[in-house]
Amino acid sequence: MTAIDSQSEYAIGIDIGGTKTLVALVDGSGGIVRSIRFPTLPEHGVGDVIERITGAAVELKDEAAARGGTVLGIGVASAGVLDARQQRIVYAANLNWQNVPVGRLLSERTGLAVKLGNDANLAAVAEYVWGSRRSARDLIYVTVSTGVGAGMISGGQLVEGASDSAGEFGHMTADPFGPRCSCGNYGCLENYSSGTALAATANSRLGQREGDDSRWTARDLMEAAGAGHAGAMDIVRRAAFHLGNGLTSLIHLFNPQRIVLGGGVMAGELLLRETIRVVDARTIPSMRAQVAIERTTLGEEIGVLGAAGLFYMEGGMRA
Ligand SMILES: [Zn+2]
Repeated sequence: MTAIDSQSEYAIGIDIGGTKTLVALVDGSGGIVRSIRFPTLPEHGVGDVIERITGAAVELKDEAAARGGTVLGIGVASAGVLDARQQRIVYAANLNWQNVPVGRLLSERTGLAVKLGNDANLAAVAEYVWGSRRSARDLIYVTVSTGVGAGMISGGQLVEGASDSAGEFGHMTADPFGPRCSCGNYGCLENYSSGTALAATANSRLGQREGDDSRWTARDLMEAAGAGHAGAMDIVRRAAFHLGNGLTSLIHLFNPQRIVLGGGVMAGELLLRETIRVVDARTIPSMRAQVAIERTTLGEEIGVLGAAGLFYMEGGMRA
């Protein structure tokens, strides 16, 4: 064991998803030293899931000790409605959890401090603490997958709002005369630019896929548009139009230095290029010149990196 190892501080990041859970030991430079991945199996009940998560966290705490290091705490990333101050998952539809005091359960059994955050907020934290361009103190992470969400870092602080609900970018109004959204509002951005919306629009406008009797997915649609399918391209352009307008509003509101895009739907070139084209045409030029718009490079570990990253932000600021 080297002298450097004996000085080491680590944090444990946990990303609880509906299908799989990832628990990772993260070092002070954002490197994942060791990770444990398992199916979440929420149908086995809260107690069982917490038991397996706790077991993995204890194993990684022991690993840190064996390396002569200490663990600063456990960060937990989850979807749904969270109460970060009470460290409680209020409601997570993908887990079918209600009022689960994750913080208390984990800290009782591991002896470690626990912090909690939602997926998009923690992705923003991961980019802020460990992403490229570390000089950026104002950044926004936007995720486009089955839904649309955002996490905002403003002046080096995570914007959480009065009840930890800030960043509902997908429920910004894109068309005030649009259809009713599941949230109660009308014409929300998510109804035009999410993977769910892309697939639904493709299925209603394009009929069955050529030479195939299966239904369209967002990925199929992107591939068809990339290959020159005019109908598919129209749908992608419409999604980019609304997403680009939304980003323009975010730039005008927050004046960020970086907008980082992630999520499965942002993986291809086409939607990114078309979205940037809209932003270029509509944003106040001096503010557009200030902001870099780029895809995340942190990969699918971004959730655990952000969760662990909470322990590398001093009072909400990067340590
Ligand atoms: Zn909505």
